[in-house]
Amino acid sequence: MRNQYLCLFITTLLFVVSCKKETPAPLSPPKSTATFTLVGSGAICSNTTVLGEYIIGVPLDSTNKVIVQVNVTAPGTYIVTTSDTYGMRFSDTGIFVNTGIQGITLKASGTPGYTGNIFIYFAAGASSCSFTIPVNTAPPPGHGSDNDHMLFGNPGRAAMVPDSINNFLLRKTQYALSYSRDRGIPNWVSWHLYGPDLGTTPRQDDFRPDNTLPAGWYQVPANAYSGSGFDRGHNTPSADRTSSVEANSATFLMTNMIPQAPYHNQQTWARMEDSLRRLVTAGFELYIIMGAYGSGGTGNNGFATTIHGGKVTVPASIWKIAVVIPNGDNDKSRVDEAIRIIAVNIPNTVSVNTNWKNYRVSVDAIETATGYDLLDLLPASMQSVLEARVDGI
Ligand code: MN
Ligand code: MN
Repeated sequence: MRNQYLCLFITTLLFVVSCKKETPAPLSPPKSTATFTLVGSGAICSNTTVLGEYIIGVPLDSTNKVIVQVNVTAPGTYIVTTSDTYGMRFSDTGIFVNTGIQGITLKASGTPGYTGNIFIYFAAGASSCSFTIPVNTAPPPGHGSDNDHMLFGNPGRAAMVPDSINNFLLRKTQYALSYSRDRGIPNWVSWHLYGPDLGTTPRQDDFRPDNTLPAGWYQVPANAYSGSGFDRGHNTPSADRTSSVEANSATFLMTNMIPQAPYHNQQTWARMEDSLRRLVTAGFELYIIMGAYGSGGTGNNGFATTIHGGKVTVPASIWKIAVVIPNGDNDKSRVDEAIRIIAVNIPNTVSVNTNWKNYRVSVDAIETATGYDLLDLLPASMQSVLEARVDGI
């Protein structure tokens, strides 16, 4: 038996070797390398055509292409490739037969990791230029096309690429968030809230690690906050997602939690969450962003900067903004200077007042504290009016 296999192996080997021998030689010697420059002005490539659809998190395919112009001064082979930008790369290889200005088609690879207008920069020959790829977000299932959780922006430009370790974008059906691997908590969580989100599903209480984080990242376990003196404080509240068991359960992922001072969480914060849900019941839809920054809070066991052996940071302050608009479609176009934006910033301590309204601030104040440009997809003129105002209703 063994000899039979050996024979088969040798026969196969001979076949492979003989196959290799039969490989025909190239019909013509390799062409020399072409000389060419990119055609552009002001660092922007001229006459660029972007083909295909670009959606964050959706792998690029053969429909994703960009045509750029080159000026060939000597025919020959060419290889052009852009740098890897937010998960995307564009490249092409081939032979220029003629000299002069002509278009080449760069094929895309990778998966867009960031939403917005992305500048793809590259250099070829003696010149360089860049082109813009508009990357969009897919609407979350169950929400209409204009109810995206990040409709008004992506604070700090969180990216869905593994090297964005402390500003990693996670997009879930129920919310979107920027996660910090080293802090073990989100920087912010953003979600749309409207009538269909509110149902009768009971609280699932299935706290659990988030296994959608990049491979090798520490997954904060469900019991990480035990005995710490801090609550597992939801960002997107359980009670904001009661349309189904799946929707409610999604809020119990540990990537949606921060160590929150119990009185802060159970009194001040809970009352604000209730107030916002009452606005939904009254006919409004809300775009909410909750975030936490700094380190060091005071829970039931006193002051701490971290818990769980240093793997989870206790934030110093917790903020929230809610853009409030009447129910309807085309939400971004319905924002005007008269709409209500409710914003608070509350220190993470047990000695806070139960009345969340005492902590109202402008969006500008939160931008100053965090360094984010919040609501940056609204026109700048509208931001300057809306973000300076402190809600007083
Ligand atoms: Mn809407
Ligand atoms: Mn802003």
